[in-house]
Amino acid sequence: MPQRITDAVRLRSQQTPQGEHSSPLYLTSSFCFEDAESMRAAFADETDANIYSRFSNPSVQEFTDKLCALEGAEAGFATASGMSAVFGSFMALLKQGDHLLSCNAIFGSTHTVIAKYLPKYGISYSYVSADATEADWEAAITPATKMIYLETPTNPGLEIIDIAMVSRVAKKHGVLLNVDNCFATPISQQPIALGADLVVHSATKWLDGQGRVLGGAVTGRKDLIHEIYLFCRSTGPALSPFNAWVLSKSLETLDVRMERHASNALYIATALEKHPALSWLKYPFLPSHPQYAIARQQMTQGGGIVCFELKGGLEAGRKFLDKLQMLSRTANLGDTRSIASHPASTTHAKLSEAERAAVNITPGLIRISVGLEHKDDILNDILQALD
Ligand SMILES: *Cc1c(COP(=O)(O)O)cnc(C)c1O
Repeated sequence: MPQRITDAVRLRSQQTPQGEHSSPLYLTSSFCFEDAESMRAAFADETDANIYSRFSNPSVQEFTDKLCALEGAEAGFATASGMSAVFGSFMALLKQGDHLLSCNAIFGSTHTVIAKYLPKYGISYSYVSADATEADWEAAITPATKMIYLETPTNPGLEIIDIAMVSRVAKKHGVLLNVDNCFATPISQQPIALGADLVVHSATKWLDGQGRVLGGAVTGRKDLIHEIYLFCRSTGPALSPFNAWVLSKSLETLDVRMERHASNALYIATALEKHPALSWLKYPFLPSHPQYAIARQQMTQGGGIVCFELKGGLEAGRKFLDKLQMLSRTANLGDTRSIASHPASTTHAKLSEAERAAVNITPGLIRISVGLEHKDDILNDILQALD
């Protein structure tokens, strides 16, 4: 761990003759060549010279290198958003006739990609529930299963899936394991060390951590990342060099930020756990969390998200949002500023109550992304809104 944290601070693109201390921003779409021969060699993949920023760019590479160090990954490719990372990892590695096995508790847009778009290309899917046992996962594997995709902790329900357990199933059946590590971040959890082949990220969330830019990445096995790179370099979801430059700086503070997000979140979760207006509250590092033991086994901190269910359901959720004075009402998460959201009336409002129930979105579910304000100011705003 110590070397990873230092690499996230100190890895950088090669210093220019100016001797700049902070890395420059390579805001350029293409790169020049000394002569026809070096240009030919670059296009023939005989050198790793930068050609065009849809393929590679030094600012993007710096961000990718730091993230690979944090995840303990052999290679990585950065993308314009988390969703393009997820989509690229599917399209580069799955083909007509393949089956993708996932879990019914996954990010909404990921579910849309899996359930609406992959079937158009002849890629089928099925889901197990987040509390599936090893036998349940194994029973869901078919001869066509090529990849298992999971998210842990899940957004927004904070369910925890045992990565090492699912990895045993994947390895036994020769299936790839792809893990969305957005909520935990590599500071708390390294899926590759637990057996994952690929790790996807929305860099928009905690990696940026300041609500400024969209970004994403896939890291993992070199041969798989090469396929994803080839797919992305032709289809074009490249990360902007500007966003990469912002995100690379962000990774330098990720460790200290996540420590405070997690300690603030644990403080707030502990203080609110028995509040009479709540029917339940979930935080991975509270012993009351149904998968607390797994969380403690695979994470080093509980992360910055707390969620709870208001006793008054849908109407109480809307009222709670209205009463907040400091917390932001916005769709993002993983910001310095604390955020509250009510999925049933916003992100999941188009679904029927039964459809929401099927993906574990209860009517009074509130998700708090705990920021870096003073912990008592965050807690007091929530308390006054609950009253
Ligand atoms: C936000 C999010 C994504 C998608 O990331 P974007 O950067 O918004 O495209 C994927 N997975 C999880 C868990 C997320 O929270």
